[in-house]
Amino acid sequence: MLVRLIYASRVHPDLTPSDIDHILARSHANNARDGVTGALCYTGGVFLQCLEGGRRAVNEVYHRIAGDPRHTDPAILSFSQIVAREFGDWAMGYVAHTADNRALFLKYCPLPQFDPYTMSAASVEALLQELMGVARWRTAR
Ligand code: FAD
Repeated sequence: MLVRLIYASRVHPDLTPSDIDHILARSHANNARDGVTGALCYTGGVFLQCLEGGRRAVNEVYHRIAGDPRHTDPAILSFSQIVAREFGDWAMGYVAHTADNRALFLKYCPLPQFDPYTMSAASVEALLQELMGVARWRTAR
């Protein structure tokens, strides 16, 4: 059975770009091994991540991530059974905030700043899908 889990969390203030690189490197290796795909968005001090895969694999990786000291306040925004993956091409696609996607945040967020904690699950899913389409990818597949 396939599931999709989307959560938000607050970035630890001491997080550096090399921490992000390390997280992405481990994510690519672990997720490819475990059949997990998804996308990680990092902007305005907030992470928004979508994890897709088998129910057991997604639960396991989420619990590992939730205990990671590099972020705080993890909150599950959406958890659903799915028929097919949206981000099946990406072991973990990554997008940071750029001028190109500022308008997208405004389109889906109640306030001009990106705050996934205040968004509906449907808005979060739609935003992630659009971001993955227009964003400049920092990491290769
Ligand atoms: P290793 O890097 O070998 O880590 C070993 C241990 O050290 C882990 O407990 C790790 O949490 C800890 N650790 C490593 N570096 C640091 C550091 N700089 N500060 C504090 N503790 C550290 N993992 C995935 O597998 N898939 C994902 O999609 C994924 N997404 C993530 C998204 C976010 C926002 C964050 C913060 C982390 C994410 N991680 C992800 C990392 C996850 O939390 C675990 O660190 C990782 O899965 C552990 O795998 P490892 O033993 O191969 O990694």
